[in-house]
Amino acid sequence: MESNEKKLTPISQLGEFGLIKRIAAGFRHRQPSTLLGIGDDAAIIATDGSYKLWSMDLLVENIHFDLVYTPLRHLGYKSVIVNLSDICAMNGHPQQIMMGLALSSRFTVEAIDEFYAGVEQACRHYAVDLVGGDTTSSQQGIFISVSVLGEVAKGGAVGRGGARVGDLICTTGDLGGAYMWLQILEREKSVYADVPDLKPELEQYAHILARLLKPEARQDIITLFESMEAVPTAMMDISDGLSSELFHICEASGCGAIIYEDQLPLHSETRSTAAEFSIAPAICALNGGEDYELLFTISEKEYEKIDGLKDITIIGEITKAASGIKIETDSGQQFDLKAQGWNALQ
Ligand code: ADP
Ligand code: MG
Repeated sequence: MESNEKKLTPISQLGEFGLIKRIAAGFRHRQPSTLLGIGDDAAIIATDGSYKLWSMDLLVENIHFDLVYTPLRHLGYKSVIVNLSDICAMNGHPQQIMMGLALSSRFTVEAIDEFYAGVEQACRHYAVDLVGGDTTSSQQGIFISVSVLGEVAKGGAVGRGGARVGDLICTTGDLGGAYMWLQILEREKSVYADVPDLKPELEQYAHILARLLKPEARQDIITLFESMEAVPTAMMDISDGLSSELFHICEASGCGAIIYEDQLPLHSETRSTAAEFSIAPAICALNGGEDYELLFTISEKEYEKIDGLKDITIIGEITKAASGIKIETDSGQQFDLKAQGWNALQ
């Protein structure tokens, strides 16, 4: 007799990105104002004047953060930042957010006050308004969903698909710090569980600690682009690690890339902590997520504008698709890069 049972597929077989592609394939746009939907850092919606950018992120306790070593005020701040970062990654400016919370009974009013003190700090710092949300209960833990609306001049949005052969590949700030701090936390979690006030003996890690606990959205870079009249050809924020994001840009743009190990921007604390863990520093930048810096490509004609800027590093260039996505090591050897970005469903 034939079995009625349908063969069911574990989500891990598709992975996070495969699942999103499958969802996207089932929908088509019906609104002429929907200029860009699923697949970039934010959707683009046409309005009479400028374009609106719209994005959301969901943060889940014990998947994205551990309250043992994440003060609630920092969590509130970071929940906003990760969303603002997506708007910056489209070359836009964030304006409004909505915030949904699901809370288990273990959270007190005072705890939520702390969380929202962080949210307010981020709103103040970036001149963004909290304009709504939703509150409900959860059986376990806290779920934080933030949706952000931003704006960009008509035609000024920068997606992932515009990189062209010969373009320079650039990153902002320094990479891999958040990842190294996470390694320390994982190693010493039991110690921190007893001493929630992380203080003196951690001073040598002040920079990488801040990278994980208090990241910033690089709105300053978007303002800098405007003042220089420079427009990147492709851009995204580095939430999952440089390697994974570079793959996204190359896939969307139909090109290859070469980056140089000795050009990767690494803070001295990231280097020394990597040495402590016997990890090659480049691995922190390539595979470590949560830096919320920007990865962008820009025409080589703009070289003069960006060369020597403190917060921008040229790390490589865009090549033909057939050349693949490569890294040249300090010793001059070239290797294929792997998209080992963080993948929530694997
Ligand atoms: P990011 O790293 O910037 O948060 P994601 O990888 O989460 O980006 O999402 C990639 C694209 O897929 C975005 O356009 C996002 O809006 C879309 N997306 C993610 N999850 C879903 C979902 N469950 N349904 C529809 N679209 C989704
Ligand atoms: Mg997302």
